Amino acid sequence: ASFDDLDLSPVMRRALKKAGFEAPSPIQSALIPLALDGLDVIGQARTGTGKTAAFSIPILEQLDPLEECRDPQAIIVVPTRELADQVGREAERLAWGEPTEIAVLAGGKNITRQLRQLENGVQIVVGTPGRLHDHLQRGSLRTNKVWCVVLDEADRMLDIGFRPQIERILRKCPRDRQTLLLSATLPPTVRRLAESYMHHPEVIDC
Ligand code: AMP
Repeated sequence: ASFDDLDLSPVMRRALKKAGFEAPSPIQSALIPLALDGLDVIGQARTGTGKTAAFSIPILEQLDPLEECRDPQAIIVVPTRELADQVGREAERLAWGEPTEIAVLAGGKNITRQLRQLENGVQIVVGTPGRLHDHLQRGSLRTNKVWCVVLDEADRMLDIGFRPQIERILRKCPRDRQTLLLSATLPPTVRRLAESYMHHPEVIDC
């Protein structure tokens, strides 16, 4: 497999080169084309498979510039603060060459700074369910322009007990959005969430 097969923009190809990515991982080869087609996808993948780039690349490729849209276009929901930071850094790295506003909205972090960042305009939000829910309550996180929601490590988030916050986030986002769900395992709890909030998802196992 080669990144040449994935129909990526020249700027993304350069970012991948800069990041030292020579060839796509299996989850990237499988997920990127489906996501670029606008489909909902359930990806069974653990950490270390390159899942972060798999969902970040199609989002970055389809972002409207900040001058055209100041409200978030993609929301990436992750179980922990550490993972939020990690995903934010990976997305920043892949956004090389294009000015891209990414906000990490994790719990335990200064909310005033997050409010200011949202007010200034962001394209991608990465956050933990609790803090994202908090921003929804305050009205600081606008969801009307969101065209992609990613649920990363969905099984872990449900195990922690984040189902109500996740459902609230999904219900707030436009119905015709894309939903990408990544999970190491697909127990009935994850399948039920997918049945309720995804449209005919493609299932890939890498
Ligand atoms: P993840 O599974 O998303 O946590 O990624 C695991 C690690 O693999 C991260 O450090 C990524 O930067 C790296 N990675 C992801 N995709 C590739 C690739 N195609 N080639 C080389 N490294 C990669």
